[in-house]
Amino acid sequence: MKHFIVGPVETYKEVQNIYKQPYLYFRSNEFGEFVKETLNRLSSLIGNNDKNSLLYLTMSGTGAMEATIENCVTPKDKVLVINGGIFGQRFCELLKFHNIPFDSINLKWNESLTKEHLEYYENKGYTTLFVNLHETSTGQLYDVKLLSEFTKRNNMFFIVDAISTFLADTYDMSKYNIDVTIISSQKGLCLSPGLSFVSLSKRIIDKIYKTTPSSLYFDFKDYLKNIERGQTPYTPAVFIMYELKAILDLIDNSGGLEKWLSNIKEKCQYFREQICKIGLNIPTTYNLSNTMTPVICDTVNANELVKYLRDHYEICVNPCGGNRANYMFRVSHIGNTTKKDIDILIDKIQKTIEVLAKRN
Ligand SMILES: *Cc1c(COP(=O)(O)O)cnc(C)c1O
Repeated sequence: MKHFIVGPVETYKEVQNIYKQPYLYFRSNEFGEFVKETLNRLSSLIGNNDKNSLLYLTMSGTGAMEATIENCVTPKDKVLVINGGIFGQRFCELLKFHNIPFDSINLKWNESLTKEHLEYYENKGYTTLFVNLHETSTGQLYDVKLLSEFTKRNNMFFIVDAISTFLADTYDMSKYNIDVTIISSQKGLCLSPGLSFVSLSKRIIDKIYKTTPSSLYFDFKDYLKNIERGQTPYTPAVFIMYELKAILDLIDNSGGLEKWLSNIKEKCQYFREQICKIGLNIPTTYNLSNTMTPVICDTVNANELVKYLRDHYEICVNPCGGNRANYMFRVSHIGNTTKKDIDILIDKIQKTIEVLAKRN
């Protein structure tokens, strides 16, 4: 099976089977030093050079989103959420569950977020903005500068789920005054699912020390104390930490971050050219991430196309949710795939459309 999904993505051979190698006892000083060094390297890719500001949690991305809510906002806050799809909606559901007052800017799936959307919310006492910078369900990449300036003007904390944009698009936490960055192992990092990372600004750390989360397991104060020694309060996903070191080495050895990003961008642009050549379209009303391409397919049923690719060609792409599943699917450009793989994918999409068109 060849995966063109957003995560877990095709892994690199440098990362595979790392768990079969000798490993350290996780409570040892040596493991702690190894973790600290590895997290420092990841921190610098995120654009946060503060010491001990990057926590890692053994849970999927949604766990890190929920932990962030518990530790970074309270019922005294007034939160604004950019809700442009499934993941924005998830922030809303989590905030509601935790009794945090919030409003949301609800976008139609093909509606671009602009400064006009934000105008109404200026000077209204909002304390914190939550955004999924790349809303993976639609493929919209929001304008980080626009949101950064809005939060700065309104003296708000700026909390970013960067799970599906980090390591595919440029990202810089300090440049845009971001207070929290959430990322996850199975997307741009191209690792096994199971580890999430939360990078924190100094001022949000101050707030965390004054906040009581609603669960013990998620208490960031405990993680912050432990991370000074490269430790965690509870057993971490040790092997994914080894995978993390392996992918950071691979990024370095293949020319560094910019080269890594430009390779993904190249695959992404190549795919977009080729998919348009065979007569399909990509959305033009909003800005896209290099992570993936939403493809509009209205001559045959897109959901059937996704199934056919999987059943007949062992190719896996992402369907869309809800009604959009019938006319749109999504193709990821992160992970260990090549232009040659894209050629095969395009060919099989074309063949599938021919087959499905004859059926109707
Ligand atoms: C994948 C993803 C998540 C995390 O989902 P999990 O299934 O909990 O790992 C969160 N936000 C965005 C934008 C994502 O793409």
